[in-house]
Amino acid sequence: MYKSRTVLSTKWLATRLMKSAIFIGSALAASTSIAAYTDADKTDIDIILLGTSGGPVAHPVRSQPANMLRVGNSVYIVDTGDNISQQLSRASVALPSLDAVFISHMHFDHTLGLGPLMAFSWVKGRDVPLPIYGPNGTKELVRRNADILDIGGHIFKHQLPPRKDISSYFVAHDIAEDKPVVIYTDSKTRVSAVSNSHYSTITLTEQDYGFDNALSYRFDVGDTCVVFTGDTGPSRALDALTKDCDILVSEIADPDSITAAIKKQFKDVQSKVLKGHIEDEHMTAAEVGKLAERSGIQKVILTHFGIGPTFSPETFIGQIRAYYPEGDIILGNDLDTIKVQ
Ligand SMILES: [Zn+2]
Ligand SMILES: [Zn+2]
Repeated sequence: MYKSRTVLSTKWLATRLMKSAIFIGSALAASTSIAAYTDADKTDIDIILLGTSGGPVAHPVRSQPANMLRVGNSVYIVDTGDNISQQLSRASVALPSLDAVFISHMHFDHTLGLGPLMAFSWVKGRDVPLPIYGPNGTKELVRRNADILDIGGHIFKHQLPPRKDISSYFVAHDIAEDKPVVIYTDSKTRVSAVSNSHYSTITLTEQDYGFDNALSYRFDVGDTCVVFTGDTGPSRALDALTKDCDILVSEIADPDSITAAIKKQFKDVQSKVLKGHIEDEHMTAAEVGKLAERSGIQKVILTHFGIGPTFSPETFIGQIRAYYPEGDIILGNDLDTIKVQ
């Protein structure tokens, strides 16, 4: 049904053995001990790319941004782009089985699938609350989705076995931290988050829930670590989160081709301003390579392709190699399964 790739390499293993610590700074130093997560060492760990497109437009081949980390039977979601429920179904994941959801930011491409995910989970009989973490506004996003779903939900309530209102099954958390902090732990994983630079060039007005921010996430599982950049440009905060990690699941953009494509659609857009936005608030191939190299990353998985229609993703490989000569680089496609352990 979907492709599977084994990503362990001898270099990865050798370097892994040499690493003695995975803590990422003082913010984590007081957090739960790594010993709590060693039961996951013997557990299968996979990353499944549910949606690899980027930007709030429908794509003929790639679904909207969504990722899944599976640790044994536990399932963690990073971003809920449109079509995520369908993609989870294709990956044979039962919707009520999710353990936690982590949303990187509120751009449509990362959130539009949340409502259907909540609806289908409720219909399928989820029986314990699902924690949903995200930036400021996440509580409001979940509350408003639940409100919308009540319109059809009250009809289904007459046709389904007894259950509470949809809002009862989802618990949202707003996260806005400038340094990496642990936001979630269970017996399998410890998740850290930090606000990144995705909105660094725009002036945002304060909303009822505070100022908008965008997040990057780090999952520590046993002695293995995976960072999901979400949408972001380079930043010290992202560096701190990624330091000494093993696998980087990164967005990537080509400023020239994406600027040309947007300019073609919206004639009054200023190319210079737009290109500056792409370079400062997204990851170019050079920045992905530099981040991976200075962080000691063993494997880079590319997703969320911000590229024009004629740009070939393969071009990114050579561009990254200039700064990241040795580690593995994977060009992600929808429903790719990358075996971590
Ligand atoms: Zn995006
Ligand atoms: Zn974005």
